[in-house]
Amino acid sequence: MCLICDRIKMIQNGTNPYFVKELETGYVVIGDNQHFRGYTLFLYKHHGDKTELFHLVPTERARFLEEMTIVAEAVSKAFGAEKINYELLGMGDAHLHWHLFPRVSGDIENCGNNGRGPVWWYPMEKMYSNDNRPSEEQLADMKCRLLAELEKLI
Ligand SMILES: [Zn+2]
Repeated sequence: MCLICDRIKMIQNGTNPYFVKELETGYVVIGDNQHFRGYTLFLYKHHGDKTELFHLVPTERARFLEEMTIVAEAVSKAFGAEKINYELLGMGDAHLHWHLFPRVSGDIENCGNNGRGPVWWYPMEKMYSNDNRPSEEQLADMKCRLLAELEKLI
């Protein structure tokens, strides 16, 4: 049971409302919660026993990293980031997936080091609050902006 594999199945069935675009090595999706406006994920297409970057053959790894970088640039342009934060974690679901957070000054309020620091210094209950789930209309707008920027770069 893997949440990322489930979400990919929904993309393949045409039932994932967050899906933006399929690339060669993965799928681009908007994050469920949008405290960090424009938060996007890039999900590697395969799971199995490939749960670390060093499990991928070099050509596949290079392609995956190159495509993630393109997604990051598109996210930055679409959502006006001052800085992109990149995370590849996998302690919840080991499936390779990048979290791309567009950051702007003040986005963690006064948390962290006087408002400076990583996204995970912002309280989890605020970050994952239902209050920051995009409406259908907001989601459609975000997908459209991101897709437009992606298509300029690919
Ligand atoms: Zn998986």
